[in-house]
Amino acid sequence: MLALQGDVREHVAALEAAGARTTPLRAPGELAGLDGVVIPGGESTAIGRLLGLFDLLEPLRDAVAQGLPTYGSCAGMVLLADEVLDGLPGQPLLGGLDVSVRRNAFGSQVDSFEADVCFAGSPLHAVFIRAPWVERVGPSVEVLARVASYDASAPLQGRPQDATDGDVGRAAGRVVAVRQGAVLATAFHPELTGDTRVHGLFVEMIQEARG
Ligand code: GLN
Repeated sequence: MLALQGDVREHVAALEAAGARTTPLRAPGELAGLDGVVIPGGESTAIGRLLGLFDLLEPLRDAVAQGLPTYGSCAGMVLLADEVLDGLPGQPLLGGLDVSVRRNAFGSQVDSFEADVCFAGSPLHAVFIRAPWVERVGPSVEVLARVASYDASAPLQGRPQDATDGDVGRAAGRVVAVRQGAVLATAFHPELTGDTRVHGLFVEMIQEARG
């Protein structure tokens, strides 16, 4: 569990509920022996800067490129993208996922909301917090979820009160979960809902990779 910034504790709880054992990752020497890495939600620019300060940027980038199973949620998705739109100039990235991700894509009026998505064929309730979306998907990337619907009449849970119908229309249909080989990314935060299916899928990906 990359533990430099973000909602580390929540991911650890979700991973352990899904059957994984976790250990904090804060130094390059701690990468050896890991079966997978999770990059939490938080702030991608801060996590990227800290990856550099902790000498983890290059080693983790190489590990992802060499096939280490990696899951990124929200800021983690931004960091794993090969291209980031609306990022800060020069923001450090890991890459590894052949996608273009738009940072803070849902805009200020819908910057935090909950929506049902169809995740790998089943409904899943998803929490979005200043979330990115995926705007371009490379040929070997599998789309696992899109924002299916966005309840325009729900006053609190469904959307912020100042969201307009235009915001709702822009959000609908956006790609919010992808997988490419051993790399999984979600724009939303499954670590916040108590539903462990996404972390469960990641644990299965690790088991597959271990054979
Ligand atoms: N907007 C944040 C970013 O760029 C991500 C927010 C989140 O992880 N909840 O990185």
